[in-house]
Amino acid sequence: MAAKRFEEINEKLRRGEAVVMTASEFKRYVKERGSISLKDVDVVTAATSSVMSGVSAVFQIPVAEKGRFTRAVKAYINGVPAFPGPAPNERLGLIDVVVYGTSVSIDDPEYNGGFLFRDLVEGREVEVVVETREGFSVSRSLSMHDFTFARMYTFRTCYRNYGAFVNPRKEELETIFAVTPMKGELQEATFAGCGELNPLANDPELSVIGVGTRVLVNAASGIIIGCGTRSTREHPNLSVAADMWEMKAEYLGGFRTSAEPDAYISIAIPIPIVSEEVLKGLMEAVDEKLPMPVIDTNIRTPIAQDRYASVWQGVDYEVSFNPENCIECENCMVEQICPTKAFNRELKAVNPDYCTHCGACIHVCAGDAFSGKLGHIVVEGRLIPVVARFSSRAKAEKLAELLKKRLLEGEFQLMPPVEKLHCRS
Ligand code: SF4
Ligand code: SF4
Repeated sequence: MAAKRFEEINEKLRRGEAVVMTASEFKRYVKERGSISLKDVDVVTAATSSVMSGVSAVFQIPVAEKGRFTRAVKAYINGVPAFPGPAPNERLGLIDVVVYGTSVSIDDPEYNGGFLFRDLVEGREVEVVVETREGFSVSRSLSMHDFTFARMYTFRTCYRNYGAFVNPRKEELETIFAVTPMKGELQEATFAGCGELNPLANDPELSVIGVGTRVLVNAASGIIIGCGTRSTREHPNLSVAADMWEMKAEYLGGFRTSAEPDAYISIAIPIPIVSEEVLKGLMEAVDEKLPMPVIDTNIRTPIAQDRYASVWQGVDYEVSFNPENCIECENCMVEQICPTKAFNRELKAVNPDYCTHCGACIHVCAGDAFSGKLGHIVVEGRLIPVVARFSSRAKAEKLAELLKKRLLEGEFQLMPPVEKLHCRS
């Protein structure tokens, strides 16, 4: 029945008669009118854009003429370790390598696989160095267009109800969950998760999102491979794959934290309205109801429960920059801590493609040049201000819009899952 409905919706899309809404449009429609029925909507596009550690890429790179060396032992791209194999590619002058988003460059502690992926997607040249079994190195400057394979694989992405992070201890905490060392005694909070826009929140029974579902990964067409690591029934997450050639740099990159740099990516998933149950799941996925565990970052244990409304309702999705307020400090803290390296003090400008609207600049800028409401989380009645967001609803909405456009323009077809997602725990 569901597969038939998929085909009916695809047919409506082909005829230009389907109604497609982004998750934001859907939530607004229901808020304003009180309800919605099967005849009002055919597809909802949901998306998330977030720091997600479980990101990797596989590249095949021609680095030398055939016969120059027998086998690659180690490789680096812009200093980021790239792991050769499993194919030995003996004497082919080619390397197959795996690069982790979180692997840090041996030359620059603030540059990692996430920044490398963004540079590659932007078409920049990178330096590939290979240490050979023979004991000499070969190096080449190449762009991703010279690679013969470039595919992103994720191990753990798109988490439903990720969480907020606090530090109840006295001492500051350097952690990957904060942009600057997290102040102690619950003075500040960070969080991750796009709440009611998250695709898995909008399909709570995982009835239309499954193995084989077509998705957009950083604007490129991709596919769900299965559940991700640490996926549970309550907190499912996904493993996806997508070729990198069509990705757009505004949706991915590196993300500096107070510990090691991490990586962020964006994923959009269509939710075809094949039944009343699917519609009900979408209607119930609202920020006011979606739980957000508040986690003691020291021991990675929940100490309270809040809702996503605290951080996504009545806030600004975008952070504003007013150059007139910039007092041109010699030591610009924003440039030093901006996790995506979006701010350039010389130019007094924010790169809109890089900025994830995390808001970390608001609290460190000496001249009040940045502004935006980030919300609070609540622990035992106490309001704790959010000082940095690890997810971007602004980028998630943009990607959901793009998926809607592609569906309406016939560039993206719906596929019923070939198998249900089975989380192990
Ligand atoms: S800290 Fe703020 S005011 Fe100072 S240079 Fe940087 S952006 Fe300008
Ligand atoms: S909001 Fe501020 S700190 Fe965050 S990415 Fe944008 S410019 Fe950088």
